[in-house]
Amino acid sequence: MNTPRPARPQAPPGVALQPGTAVTDWCALCKAWTRQTVALLLLTVDGVAPAGSWSWCEIHDDPDSPLPPRRIDRA
Ligand SMILES: [Zn+2]
Repeated sequence: MNTPRPARPQAPPGVALQPGTAVTDWCALCKAWTRQTVALLLLTVDGVAPAGSWSWCEIHDDPDSPLPPRRIDRA
């Protein structure tokens, strides 16, 4: 017996995530204006809806120069 496989659920068409303009913000860890905050907008066929925001620090969140791994000294 051969039963057809159910269709894989798909993301609704015509939906896109659009980042807004980056805004410089204060980083409490670095104590400097090194944080970037970007508002995310969800573009759908019905219009534009806010989809939260995303922020990161260009100093301590930099993946190109991560902090050195912590050394564990064993006796
Ligand atoms: Zn920082």
